[in-house]
This record gives sequence, C-alpha cells and structure tokens, in this order.
Amino acid sequence: MIEELHDIVVIGGGLCGFACAVRSAWNGKKTLLVEKRPALGWESTWACQLDFGGTTDAVASRVVDELRRAGGLKGGRADAPILEMILDRMAAEAGVSVLFHSYPVRLVFEGDTAFGVVMGNKSGEQIVKAKVVVDATENALLWRQTGVKADLNAPAAKHVVFFSHPEGAMELPMVLSDEVKILPSVWEDEVCVEFMLEKVDALTARRKTPEILEFIREEVPQLKDALVTHSGNEPFPAALSVHFQEEHSKVKNLFGAGIWASEVENAPVGRLNLGEKVGAAAAECEGTTEFPAEMMTGSYISQPEVASDVLVIGGGTGGAIAAIAAGRRGVKTTLIEAGTSLGGMGTGGGIHWYCSGTGGGLQDEVDQRVSKLTPLFVGKWSVKGFHPGVKKLVLQQMAEEAGVDILLDTVVTGVIRDDAKAQAETEKAGTDTAIAISEAEEKMNRLLGVIAVGTEGVSVYHAKAFIDSTGDGDVAAMSGAPFIIGRERDNLTHTFSQSAGTLDNDGNLSFTNFDAGYVDPTDVDDLTRGRRLGLSLYWQDRFTAESRVLYIAPLVGLRQSRQIAGEYQLTLADEIAGRRFADGISFVTTFYDNHGFDYANESDEAALWIWPLGNFSRRIGCEIPYRCMIPRNVDGLILACRALSLTFDAHAGLRMQKDIQRLGEVAGIAAAVAAENGISPRAIDVKELQAVLKENGILDEKYRPKTAIPEGKPLELPAPDALEPEQTEALAWISTYAGSETALAMKGMLNSDDPNVKFRAAAALAWHGINDGVQELLKCVENREAEKTKGNKSAPIWQAAITFLGMAKDGRAIPVLLGVLKDKNATLDGLIGAVRALERIGDASVIPDLHEFLNRSDLPAERNLQISMGALKHMASAIEDAGWQIELAVAETLLKLGASKDEVRQIIEPHLDDDRAHVRRYARKLL
Ligand SMILES: Cc1cc2nc3c(=O)[nH]c(=O)nc-3n(C[C@H](O)[C@H](O)[C@H](O)COP(=O)(O)OP(=O)(O)OC[C@H]3O[C@@H](n4cnc5c(N)ncnc54)[C@H](O)[C@@H]3O)c2cc1C
Repeated sequence: MIEELHDIVVIGGGLCGFACAVRSAWNGKKTLLVEKRPALGWESTWACQLDFGGTTDAVASRVVDELRRAGGLKGGRADAPILEMILDRMAAEAGVSVLFHSYPVRLVFEGDTAFGVVMGNKSGEQIVKAKVVVDATENALLWRQTGVKADLNAPAAKHVVFFSHPEGAMELPMVLSDEVKILPSVWEDEVCVEFMLEKVDALTARRKTPEILEFIREEVPQLKDALVTHSGNEPFPAALSVHFQEEHSKVKNLFGAGIWASEVENAPVGRLNLGEKVGAAAAECEGTTEFPAEMMTGSYISQPEVASDVLVIGGGTGGAIAAIAAGRRGVKTTLIEAGTSLGGMGTGGGIHWYCSGTGGGLQDEVDQRVSKLTPLFVGKWSVKGFHPGVKKLVLQQMAEEAGVDILLDTVVTGVIRDDAKAQAETEKAGTDTAIAISEAEEKMNRLLGVIAVGTEGVSVYHAKAFIDSTGDGDVAAMSGAPFIIGRERDNLTHTFSQSAGTLDNDGNLSFTNFDAGYVDPTDVDDLTRGRRLGLSLYWQDRFTAESRVLYIAPLVGLRQSRQIAGEYQLTLADEIAGRRFADGISFVTTFYDNHGFDYANESDEAALWIWPLGNFSRRIGCEIPYRCMIPRNVDGLILACRALSLTFDAHAGLRMQKDIQRLGEVAGIAAAVAAENGISPRAIDVKELQAVLKENGILDEKYRPKTAIPEGKPLELPAPDALEPEQTEALAWISTYAGSETALAMKGMLNSDDPNVKFRAAAALAWHGINDGVQELLKCVENREAEKTKGNKSAPIWQAAITFLGMAKDGRAIPVLLGVLKDKNATLDGLIGAVRALERIGDASVIPDLHEFLNRSDLPAERNLQISMGALKHMASAIEDAGWQIELAVAETLLKLGASKDEVRQIIEPHLDDDRAHVRRYARKLL
C-alpha cells in the first residue's frame, strides 16, 4: 500500500480527512488516508465530541444514517465506539486505503508542486507518492512547511468523562458552571460530563479529572454513587490551533482540509462537510505525474534536540515504572510514549487485571495508590481488576512527582548510533524476516540518540542511557540487536486481541479480550489491518444497551512481537526448573500461557508440555538474569518490556504485567546507575544492583516461585501403576532435563494398564528419539483414540500421537500417516501434524501422496480462534482461514523431501500476495 502511487493522499484521518478521502474515492480517485492514531474521526471517536446536529452534506448524511440504523444515535448524540466502526466500514466500502500509526514528517515539494509525503512510524520512515496531497492535520503541519506565515495558538480544550448508572432522572443538558456541563448519551443509563481545560493536553486533562469528579459527586446527587467507566482518550481543541496570516498559493496540488483552512463550525458535522468539499476539489485536480527521484528521500529534523540522563521509550507497563524508578534516583529522565496515556496494555490496551505474575517493589505502591483513588471513580460500583483510568492517572502522578518529562503522542522512528557520524541515520528495523540470531552482524553499536516524530515534527533525543520499553523492541532492533520473531517454524507470533470496555452482568466495569487473529506488530501496514480486523468483530447491525461496548481500547492487544537476543536467552526449561542465576534480578511466577492451537508447528518441548501432558495451567517460574535485559550488539540500552531476550516458548510465561512492571523498576534503577557513572547498563555492577533490589523488595525471597520441579531434585520415577498425579511431573522432568538414559526407564510405563500412561510414556520416549513406544502411538492413531489426557489444553490422543510419531522418525508410521491425510474426519491439526511428521521421517516416496492430499476439495477451510475471557455473547467468531497453513506446511515438507522447486513454487507463490504479513513472511521464507 505504501509503495503504490496514489491519486490522492490525505494526511490526517480526523473527521475532515475522513470525509475528504471518502468523497475523493467516491469520485473515482485512488485514495490513501494516513492517520497517527489507530482510529478514524478522532474528534468524535477519541475526544468524544458526539453532537451530530446541523445540516449535513452527503458524507455526513451517510454517517448520520448509518449511526441511526445501528442504534448509535439518539437526540442528535452519537455513540463513540459505534461511530468508530461505522467510519471504518465506510472507508472500506468506499475503497479508501487506510494507514494507521503514521505521522507526517515532511511534505515533499519543490516550487509549486508536491510529490508526496514522508511519514514516520514505528517501522521507520517511508515516502508516499501521490498526484495530490491533502493536509488534514489539526495543526496544518504540511501546509506550514511550504513557508506560509502562520501563528500557532494554544487553544482551550474540552474533555469528557462518562458515568454509568445515574440514580434518578436528570434534565440534560445540565450546565453546572462555565466550565462543566453534563450531556446526554445514546444510552439511558449513561451521561457524559464535559469540562474545560486551559490547553489541549492529555496530561492536563488527566491531572484535572479528580477535582472534576469530586465536584460532580458533590453537586449532582444523581451521580453521587455512579460509575465512571471511561474518558476521552484526548481533549478536543475548542478553537483553531493555527492561524494563517496570508493565503497559501504556491503549491498547486496541495489542499488543506483542516478547520484552519476554511470558516466552518468547529463541530463534527461542520468538519465532515468541510472535508467533503476539499475532497471534491482535490478529485478535480490532476496533480503531478512526475516524481523526481532525488526528491523522494530524506529524513527531516525540524525540532530542537533534547538531552536527558535517562530516556525511556514506551510509557507502557514496563516503561512507566522504569521512568518513575529512574526519576526517583534524581537523574534527568524523559519518557516518550506513542499513545495518549501511560500504562500500555494494562490501561490503554484495556487488559486491566493481573491474571498471574509476581508482585513486589514499586508496583505495590502503584497498586496501593490505585486502590485508594478507585472509590472516587467507581462510586458504589466495582471494577474487574483495577480501573484503567485510575492507573493511567496514578502512573502519571508518580512520574510527575519523580520529575519525569512525559512526552505523549510521540513515536520513535529511528536511532542515531556511534557509526552514524554527524548525519542522523534512520535505521529501519527488520520488519520482514526475523534475523536468525546466529546470522546477525556481531558488531557493538553505541546508541547515542533516538529520532522521534510528534505533532510538531521530528526531533532527536540524546541520553546517557536508554530504556527500550516499546513492547516490540523497536529501539534495540533499530540499533542493530539481533532478534527472533514468532515461533521457529513459521515465525507466527501469539494471537493478538482487540480489547474493549464493557459492563458485566451486574453493571460493574469489565473488559472483553479474545483471540482476533495474527498480526505483525513491527509493520504498521499490518498493524492497521489487525486493528481493523479486531474492530470488525464487534460489529452488529443493531446495537442495544446490553450488546454495546463502552469503548474500543486505544491500543491493539499485542501479546507478542520481537524477542530481542540478549546476553542470555531465557528458556521454557529454565522456567520449568525454577533456575537461579548469579545475575538474577527478578522472579517470574507463571504458567505456559501460549495461545497456540497447532502444536505440530510449535517446538517439540511445547508440543510435549501441552498435548500429551496438558500442562498449560501448571505453575512454573524462575529467576530472571540481568543479561536477558541487555541486548547483544548494543551499548547504552536496556530492555524493559515483553521483547526481553527469551525463546519463543519462554515468552508465553514471561509477559504478564506484574513481571514486566518489576523489570521496569530494575531497568529504571540500572539505567540511572549507568547514567550517574557514565557507563553502559551492560557495565554496571550487578551485585550492587541486586543489593538495591533486595532492599526495595524485588528480590525478597518470599517472591521466589515455588515450582513443582525444582532444579537439582533427584528423579524418582513412580511405579507404572502409581502414576497419578506424579506422572505428569515425572514426564515433564524427563522431557526437559533427564538424558536419554533416564528416559529409557520410561519403557516400563509402556506396560501400564492405563492407556493414558502408556501414551504419555510413548510420547516422552519419542520426544527423546527413542522408538520403543511407536507401536503404542500407531495404535492410538489407527484407533483414532479421541480421549484427551488429563490437564489443560491437551489434545485428543490420536492427534497428539501423530506429532510424536514424527519425532520418533520411524518409517513404520508412513502408511498410518498417509491414512490420516485421506481421512475426511481428520481435524485440521491432525492433518498438519501428519504432514509435519512425514517431513521428519524424510521418505521422498510420499511426495505424490502429498500432492494428492492438496487436491482434496474437502480440506478444512478455517480455524476458529478461541474466544477467551469476558468475550461478549453476540460477538462474531474470530476465524483464520486454514488454507495457508495446510498449503505452506505441505510446501515446506515437499522442499525438505527434495521435490522439484518449480512444483513447490506453484504452491507457495499465491501466498506471497496475501494481505496478512505473517502469511507473506512464511511464504517468502520458504522460497
Ligand atoms: C490480549 C492480551 C491479554 C493479556 N492478558 C493479561 C492478563 O490477563 N494479565 C496480565 O498480567 N497480563 C496480560 N497480558 C500481558 C501483558 O498485558 C503484556 O504482556 C504487558 O502489559 C506488556 O508490557 P510492555 O511494557 O512490554 O508493553 P506495553 O504495555 O504494550 O507498552 C509498550 C508501550 O510502548 C509504546 N510504544 C510502542 N512502540 C513505540 C515507539 N516506537 N515509540 C514510542 N512508544 C512506543 C506503546 O504505545 C505502549 O504504550 C495480556 C496481553 C494481551 C495483549
């Protein structure tokens, strides 16, 4: 999408930009709409300006009609999440291409002609070519770059907070003062409180909220005990933020679609009407057809440089705590966050509870302060977990008290390293194929600064020490650290979710969270696709008070992204064994929370842990060595997020908020110590760090995980007839630590009368490449043994047995596996397992059978992803098509068996154009 030539590119996906893009697409133009937030129409969907009254032109009429039809409009007031879905659907229907998470950096122009726009985002910088450019930014960023004289204003702003469950009737709108009024909502049981701020600033809005809530609770009896469910993600400017002193005239194919460009009412419909007018005019403009190559390059630093002692990039779960911890040590700390609040996934991502993890340290103080402030927000109601709005505020208060400079709405797009000389060099992080750690360039780079783009353009941020808490390891990857992405076989990361706020059956605040599909978090194009996919699952033709959501979480629910390779890479085996390390700086207490389905495609260890052993819920945990936080090849940087140096399997257990918050604290202290001493975080004295961590509770022994299989415990195999409940433990132990000699003792279990025990023993033996249990496994498959072994997430025995037959690499399995490929009742994972098993057995005679298998017209077409916690009853199922998994598994097997490359290419090639990055990436890898 980014590489294509567009007739029109509209920069800014607010209401003006949205209407402009839709109109130009309606008029037949190939249009790209670029927006920095992951939502369209921010004025209404994020800042919650929801009055849709006034005379409507075509686009606005259509929006209003759609709102009415979906039940999202009442008395001229709209519902924000329904509107978000409608705008998204309308853009899709009109054929507008949408790119989220992307900020304008520079208008590419010369003389009177614009050629395109340089954009900045977490994938780096890209140039979009377009015949016509429309500046629909709120602050006329591109327009100003043409040299037109302008004055910047800092207008006052409005901010909103929503209350559910008012008690008693209220006459609305209710004006409480010049500053505060109460507006109706689409929903009977909800009101919207709007208050004035002196400037457009999310930090100011949040700071002022408690005082407003106290005022409301005192002044309005109906809201005394009501529940504050959510607030706008950002305030809305009450007036122009830029004034032009002269008419813009120079650039003939640049249009302006902001309220600064025309006299319109500063309200949703006024903005839509204005955008539509500009869209119609832009569609009339032929624009340029030439794009001089020398113009289409270059970064653009437009803002003054900023220097700090410690720079934290990403103000999420790990980063907010890291900044507080660093600030408290008295070093000058700056925090850069792409979103509009602190707290990341736990607040902006809508996952506002701790399902597991280890407490202790600074996070306990955060939690205590959150608990203390919660009654002001919930009234007589309650919240599942913690209140996300309260935690956003508490993190901000604590960071501000610690002297941290917080920059919201700013995204890091590149880095400056010691090899970059005077020129700022933007390193595009690997977004394509993960760099195999062994192949990565082993060269130490010193990180000197990061390049970040915000509302006013690009700046460079220098620091003595940097903390990467982007969740994705953006800064480490941009700095040249090697990384892995996804599981080894097909680089698939964990499923993502798109959370939303909901009320539970009792009317208390809750959230919904599910598996929506897969997405590549390092690729903004794919991230946009993911967001829109997640959003689409909430759609209903007609929403009701019971079936609506309160808000769509502003952050996409990313469970996993890159795992940066550090000086040590933690493994699942470490977690199972409760390992200790000389440089241990934290504990993780967890379970193997992998959202996988197809364990035939996961590691052998994971397949054993889950399918035959059903160990999903089993408690595991260990110490975390400091080296996991230190990226290889980069000096000056420490990691404090889920992108820590872990294997794919270890990450399933080490990603919970409490565990990441601890790492934030460790990183904050370590980076401050490094900055104080003028050394890199990798060079600090870990013993001294450990002493601090003992003092502040992080390393208190009470937090050491109690694992079932502690390291060093001698193996005692239970007798075959006394295996419950110890059998799981014994097998787990064998699978992860004991050598094959010990495993041989498992042979005795093959004589057990319990089919479960026999199967588990056969599977564990096969795991060690010992084929004594093959007959047992074959029997399980031939009889289609459908029972599941005890435990959580175990698979039907026959299906799991297929995968272990592959591990045993025993040719006797071939006819049985080929039988599975012909079986019309075989499950998707049984089929994939059989293909993978044939690959491991490695007999080329099955090549024709594999081709025949692909010709089956009745292969499973889809995978129904699990709907997990709190998912709404009426939600659409999240479905991933299964075709790519089957076809690419067969292609990989054919390649490994030596089939002709041309033959295999035909299977792979159609997947190279898939709109999902994970499918394209696996296809490219196979080619
Ligand atoms: C669907 C889902 C369910 C989960 N369930 C639970 C649960 O029940 N309990 C639990 O404890 N944990 C749960 N987790 C896990 C946990 O929430 C996350 O693993 C954890 O919060 C990640 O913390 P982080 O600091 O690594 O990333 P985040 O909290 O995501 O923070 C990263 C921050 O960096 C910012 N950022 C990213 N890139 C840039 C950039 N280039 N420049 C500037 N800023 C940037 C982002 O905006 C974000 O605020 C769940 C996660 C998901 C996705």
